[in-house]
Amino acid sequence: MPELPEVETIARGLAKRVTGDVIESVWLGQKKEPLKSPATEIAAALEKSRITDVRRMGKHIVFDLDHVEYGAARAPSRANGRRNRRGKESKSVSPAQTSKAHPQAGGGAGPTPVRAQWIVHLGMTGSLRICEPQTEVAKHTHAILKLSSGRELRFVDPRRFGRLSVSSEFDATGVEPLEVDLDSFVALFRGRKTPIKSALLNQKLLRGVGNIYADESLFRAGIRPRRRAASITCEQLAKLHDAVKEVLKEAIALGGSSISDYVDADGEEGFFQLQHRVYGRESEPCLLCKTPIKRVVIAGRSSHYCPKCQK
Ligand SMILES: [Zn+2]
Repeated sequence: MPELPEVETIARGLAKRVTGDVIESVWLGQKKEPLKSPATEIAAALEKSRITDVRRMGKHIVFDLDHVEYGAARAPSRANGRRNRRGKESKSVSPAQTSKAHPQAGGGAGPTPVRAQWIVHLGMTGSLRICEPQTEVAKHTHAILKLSSGRELRFVDPRRFGRLSVSSEFDATGVEPLEVDLDSFVALFRGRKTPIKSALLNQKLLRGVGNIYADESLFRAGIRPRRRAASITCEQLAKLHDAVKEVLKEAIALGGSSISDYVDADGEEGFFQLQHRVYGRESEPCLLCKTPIKRVVIAGRSSHYCPKCQK
């Protein structure tokens, strides 16, 4: 499953390749699972939109879109009809802006872009691939975006745990582990009786820290995964704060060199892995003190630690 560093790497790779491109048309497959928003809504938000940025939020890839109404006479009414059927939430702002944009289209000032976001969660096996149109469509392709540059952006996902949705203002839960300052980080764990490992994996606290990176961060900070979050001193939490960022940044730096393998047609290529110090090394000697690494299960997840280096 792609973890935060992989998702960051993929988002950066996509940003380099597709920012500025315009989505001319969208094809969506028949399988329902990958579509978290209705197909009509996804198509309406994506078609004729310029990709202004691609970034990571938690483990989501967010495409920022400026909806530019080419051929404004036809497009807005179609978009209105589609969205009004749902007719609720803050999304109803978009059709209003669209209809405002319509009269301006002929007025010379140009249409006001309507902002939207395309949100992709890769799930277990999802990948986004930039292909030439003549490239054979892979099995398990659920979406194809035709870009004005002539390329196609395809979403492929054999196991269908990935999700595609559109939003006007996406907000993932939790704080960004790479951005959170020390005070806010410490506050996350105050009064929490759960093991620190579970707290690190709790997406409502931190976005996107996965099992491997939680184990590796706890090792570097010298904290046992089963320790109650609330019992950890500020000094140790400061170490953990540094360790989480360090581990994620190292993994992102490693992933950076394999971007092209991942987002191009050969989406199956993996990432260069961070050299694990504890994760997956049960019974192997600790790299620091040679004590065999222990494995325990916490909240259903394997946790690896050195019983001597971690207290
Ligand atoms: Zn050790």
